[in-house]
Amino acid sequence: MSEFDFDAVVVGAGAVGLATGYALARRGLIVAVLEKERAIGQGVSSRNSEVIHAGLYYPTGSLKARLCVEGRRALYAFLDKHHVDYRKCGKLVVATAPDQIARLDAILDQALTNGVEGMARLTGAQAVALEPQLNCVEALLSPESGVFDSHGYMLALVGEIEAAGGAVVTATPFEGASPLPGGGFRVRAGGEAPTELTCRLLVTAPGLSAQGVAGAIEGFPADRIPAGHYGKGVYFRLQGKAPFERLIYPPPIPGALGTHYRKDLGGQAVFGPDLVFVDHEDYSVDPTKAAEFAAYVRKFWPAVDEAQLSPDYAGIRPKLHGPGEPQPDFQIDGPDVHGIEGLVALFGIESPGLTSSLAVGEEAAKRLGL
Ligand SMILES: Cc1cc2nc3c(=O)[nH]c(=O)nc-3n(C[C@H](O)[C@H](O)[C@H](O)COP(=O)(O)OP(=O)(O)OC[C@H]3O[C@@H](n4cnc5c(N)ncnc54)[C@H](O)[C@@H]3O)c2cc1C
Repeated sequence: MSEFDFDAVVVGAGAVGLATGYALARRGLIVAVLEKERAIGQGVSSRNSEVIHAGLYYPTGSLKARLCVEGRRALYAFLDKHHVDYRKCGKLVVATAPDQIARLDAILDQALTNGVEGMARLTGAQAVALEPQLNCVEALLSPESGVFDSHGYMLALVGEIEAAGGAVVTATPFEGASPLPGGGFRVRAGGEAPTELTCRLLVTAPGLSAQGVAGAIEGFPADRIPAGHYGKGVYFRLQGKAPFERLIYPPPIPGALGTHYRKDLGGQAVFGPDLVFVDHEDYSVDPTKAAEFAAYVRKFWPAVDEAQLSPDYAGIRPKLHGPGEPQPDFQIDGPDVHGIEGLVALFGIESPGLTSSLAVGEEAAKRLGL
């Protein structure tokens, strides 16, 4: 019988917290995942593109490069095993002007270095043969990219955690934790029935609240909490027939992959997200941005009609950089960084966090020595 209420507590029931709970449960631990909202997956994990990234772009040696590729492979296997819906539709990265061709070269080099399977270089004619409505001068084909049902994925993770004897507890905000003298933590949880519980291990995966949650852990060094920024992106949905089967991505913009096209699992065409830094959580979508979106999309889909673009939804990236600053890596900080045994704190789990989630969970477990 353990001296603790739970072997591990995970803060946040988004894709990453749940995948971490699953990684710990797979190692035989009894896990409690605490979620402040009334349901799982209501944060960043519900406001994104639901794209399974192959892992093309991320710098050599970065966590993003390794965990995206490992996470993507593990994700397809997990979705198969749990009968969660996905479409491995492939993606075209398109150069719509000759001055973008060098960027395709660089992306292809990086993709090959990152170990991405099946990459192919296409002429404009070859790309148009695949997608007749496309305008481009050259393209890259990434057959491993896809779209998936991220909510179904998160529900399957809950099922795995519960099947292993753990619990996912909603409407229960983490309010703070104190290390216990002999190891482990006393965790304070709020909500309608505030409570305290003890655990041997603690992982924080609270998305946009990462800085505040780390600051509520007694002894967490303030200078080890990276500054957070909000990178908002909005989407427009096409009222009309989806023009392409594959994902279509122009080369990335500074700080994000930028506005792209996807045909979602329901068969509708969606364009987005752009990137605008904001200072608070604001999920409004300005309808007047349709003109800007149409101008951008027209470069690769000349037939786009602005009148058919309707404002859809917005998401906010938990960023560790501001405008014009270089985009840093994921932070998966164990005791070697913050000095607290038994604790892993996650920061800056922006894109490709959904794709990488199973591998992020494995990495968090490893940093706990498991
Ligand atoms: C516009 C956009 C597009 C994206 N597109 C993609 C994509 O196509 N593919 C991809 O791989 N990635 C994509 N991403 C990134 C991906 O969505 C995120 O990396 C991922 O969803 C992060 O998951 P998470 O679990 O860390 O965060 P979240 O999903 O936000 O989960 C954190 C959870 O913690 C909870 N929480 C916060 N504070 C507390 C507290 N004190 N107590 C208890 N619970 C708390 C929150 O309510 C939330 O449920 C995109 C992101 C954005 C914003």
